[in-house]
Amino acid sequence: MGSQQARSDDVPFSPSAPDSSTISRQSVESSPRLYKALAEAMPALVLTTSADGDVVYCNDELLDYCGVQMGDLQGSRWVDLIHPEDVAAGSERWMAEIQTLKPFSSEYRIRRHDGVYRWYLTRTAPLRNADDEIEGWVGVSVDVHDRRVAEDDMRQMSEELRRANAAKDEFLAMVSHELRTPVTTIYGNASVLQRQIRELPREQIVAVMTDVEREALRLQQLIDNMFVLARIEEHGKADIEPISLGRVVDKAATEHRNRYPETQIRVHDSSAGVPACGDETYVLHILRNLVINAEKYSPSGAPIDIHMARHDETTLSVRVCDAGVGIKGEVDRIFETFYRSPETADYAPGAGMGLAVARRLVETQGGIIWARNREGGGAEVGFTLPIEEDAA
Ligand code: ADP
Repeated sequence: MGSQQARSDDVPFSPSAPDSSTISRQSVESSPRLYKALAEAMPALVLTTSADGDVVYCNDELLDYCGVQMGDLQGSRWVDLIHPEDVAAGSERWMAEIQTLKPFSSEYRIRRHDGVYRWYLTRTAPLRNADDEIEGWVGVSVDVHDRRVAEDDMRQMSEELRRANAAKDEFLAMVSHELRTPVTTIYGNASVLQRQIRELPREQIVAVMTDVEREALRLQQLIDNMFVLARIEEHGKADIEPISLGRVVDKAATEHRNRYPETQIRVHDSSAGVPACGDETYVLHILRNLVINAEKYSPSGAPIDIHMARHDETTLSVRVCDAGVGIKGEVDRIFETFYRSPETADYAPGAGMGLAVARRLVETQGGIIWARNREGGGAEVGFTLPIEEDAA
């Protein structure tokens, strides 16, 4: 491209017009051809500017690489060849370096004739006249793109590794705490019963056993969530088939009633028995998590309502509604793994996995999940599942 355009022969090699040039006067003037030949022979982009940064000369390598003519670079327009992000990030440092009047290096991307940017290492050095005054600058840029990209990839990989490591440490710390707490309670209560069962009044025995049951349930929920999470991480898909949502919801409600006989759990089905498409085990697991949360974040005995309905043309919805404390703090974050709202953390124990697992399971089955506060108090957590194709 550059070869048909104005070439570097058309411009002076030194930063100002030849007759007024004072740059490295003796050597350049004694052998200007040598210096020109050197600049043209270099497998690098060479540019010289006046002290004000106006372009004076650049070699053919630069014109060819950038696909420009000398005229395109008049004034300081050579800066337009540098990636705007690198100009924004580097210009303050470059100005400071220039003030020191010493050579300096910088790395930035330079635009190729086809619009692709490649990384270059540029060494910039001042040109001084016989009185040691700065008359201009020389910049020599060499292609370091492959090295730079490899370095960036390495940096990104090690950052990802660091994050994965930190997440693993956080997970282990959380899991060991969440496993240890119920085990300690169960062990302590079992010891009390073993040593004192004859002396203890019946109500106290019942209280101790209730404690044991609650903690065992918490342990079971945590282990189940961990298994389910590991399974989806590994397989990433569900066994989708036509399922009766009503049947799965009834199963979850019955299970819950058996565990918490004092809780009123009511099922409202206006889905007209339309079958959904999903994995029954996954749907049951989602419901268990939502119902346990409704129980945990509500005062004892508060009712839980499960609504099933047609959501739109192609999906059914299930909404678990409670009359509890409601969702506090950052609603958007409650589906993140291990996130627990600080305002409710003291209200009930938990590992911050229930909703994250529920979201993964819902999305794996092609649905969406949401959470919101209900008018008049309490929370609603709902999800959709696709309607079985023949029934849609
Ligand atoms: P965990 O309950 O173990 O903290 P979850 O992932 O199940 O973890 O829930 C994340 C957070 O969402 C909870 O810490 C709680 O702050 C909030 N949350 C979930 N369900 C409810 C609910 N029914 N009512 C109020 N807050 C809820």
